[in-house]
Amino acid sequence: MRMLLIGPPGAGKGTQAERVAERYGIPAISTGDIFRANVSQGTPLGLQARDFMDRGAYVPDELTNALVLDRLAQDDAAEGFLLDGFPRTLPQVFTLDECLAGQGGSLDAVVQLVADADEVVQRLLKRAATQGRSDDTEDVIRTRLEVYREQTHPLVAVYAERGVLVSVDAVGGLDEVTERIFTALHGGVQHSS
Ligand code: AMP
Repeated sequence: MRMLLIGPPGAGKGTQAERVAERYGIPAISTGDIFRANVSQGTPLGLQARDFMDRGAYVPDELTNALVLDRLAQDDAAEGFLLDGFPRTLPQVFTLDECLAGQGGSLDAVVQLVADADEVVQRLLKRAATQGRSDDTEDVIRTRLEVYREQTHPLVAVYAERGVLVSVDAVGGLDEVTERIFTALHGGVQHSS
């Protein structure tokens, strides 16, 4: 199973990615987590990424693509993976396409987590209070939502056109949303007409 989760910040991608990946026995690969680990370890990649992350901007495609290609080349991703937070731009979509074509594969499913802006802002502010992520301040949250709307939301249409998109209502309890994802995946991907 090669799949990805797409949705605005605060839609619950990280939590749901872990659950879905566990069920399928595939690694959940979160570019945000990889960047944060590099920032906290002070690696050269972390030093380059930190400024963008703290502003709520995307890390440049060259850096992000290199990181993902490296991660997908690792053994545990050979039979499948769940990408959380990648691709977020059209050039990243093309990079992933090329990588998968090189392996003779393609994406099996793209799960869109749908939640409106009010809902995700509330969730992110709550997370700010409990987890203290440096990019969860109100100003940065607003920037991240705007960047998502402009750069990432258009990818939903790209994957819908390819017939691999399923959309899931992400408002509800964690278990409820997880079940909706499995139901949507088992029901098969919707082919757009
Ligand atoms: P996330 O944990 O997925 O919300 O990601 C946190 C931050 O990491 C984002 O706001 C970006 O600055 C950076 N980031 C994560 N994934 C990507 C990506 N695919 N492209 C560019 N920047 C990313």
